[in-house]
Amino acid sequence: MTPIIETHLLNKKYGETHALQDVSIKIPAGTIGLLGPNGAGKSTFIKCLLQLENKTSGSVSLLGMNIDEKGRETRTRIGYAPEQDCHIPGMIGSEYVTYCGELSGLPFEDARQRAHEMLDFVGMGQERYRKVDTYSTGMKQRVKIAQALVHDPDLVFLDEPTNGLDPNGQAMVLDLITRIWKESGISVILSSHLLHDVDRVCERIVIISQGELLVHDELAHLKQQRRPEVELLLVDEPAILYEAFDRLQWKWEKLNNGKVKVVHGQNSLNPLLSLLDETGVAPLGISASPNALNELFLKALDKGPSK
Ligand code: ADP
Repeated sequence: MTPIIETHLLNKKYGETHALQDVSIKIPAGTIGLLGPNGAGKSTFIKCLLQLENKTSGSVSLLGMNIDEKGRETRTRIGYAPEQDCHIPGMIGSEYVTYCGELSGLPFEDARQRAHEMLDFVGMGQERYRKVDTYSTGMKQRVKIAQALVHDPDLVFLDEPTNGLDPNGQAMVLDLITRIWKESGISVILSSHLLHDVDRVCERIVIISQGELLVHDELAHLKQQRRPEVELLLVDEPAILYEAFDRLQWKWEKLNNGKVKVVHGQNSLNPLLSLLDETGVAPLGISASPNALNELFLKALDKGPSK
């Protein structure tokens, strides 16, 4: 299968800021989360792919087409909902989405029909006949998604689509993302600084940190990977348990937070639970180590914005 996005040594500099550094990636179709803290380079990555910003160096192909040769053609097959508002002041919702369809090359009648279908799809009712300026943040986000889908693209970029939404609004937008892929077969790149958003709806994850590609993997794969260790909160000093750890050659140590960390080295917690049962030790708490996805995300947060 042709990757929907393929970059080779993609670089973008804004003056002294190296916003993207040697990003080489091949992304297959599906729902993909583009994750990283604010300032990591996510928007720059999207803008360079869409030629809204000129890349400094490197090559990019979208849907199998090199953007330097076929930029215009690729963009007719791509939708984009930017992070900031992009509506035209004074226009009513349905007019605006129809107009975006016409800008993408659809004849007026087709654009109008598709606009209403997409406004239905994103759950907009009679509000579509009101001026977009009067919309709530949630409605504005949904209209932005409708305009990104109006020309029936193969790939859509949604930049921070849950920003500013309450939990209900967030859930609604995330649900839409799943449906865009499952019902329409349109691949979605969801850019977000929230692990929760990406975790909920994406099959793959790309983490960018300080302009560099930190990880690209299937979400399920990353979530399966855990360091085989746990932290136990114990009532008093259960010598019998410590002796059992030593006998099994499980490394253990007392941590500053009062817990005991034990490296049990197993894929499952069952051997540890059996051991607790055998020794008659009932811990107050057992916390498994975070999975690789959480750890990588924390690492990305640690690094902060690109320099
Ligand atoms: P994200 O989308 O992950 O929040 P951005 O791509 O917006 O990150 O920004 C990446 C880095 O590039 C940041 O350090 C940001 O300050 C810088 N940057 C982004 N756009 C510009 C610009 N137009 N001019 C100068 N620096 C920019």
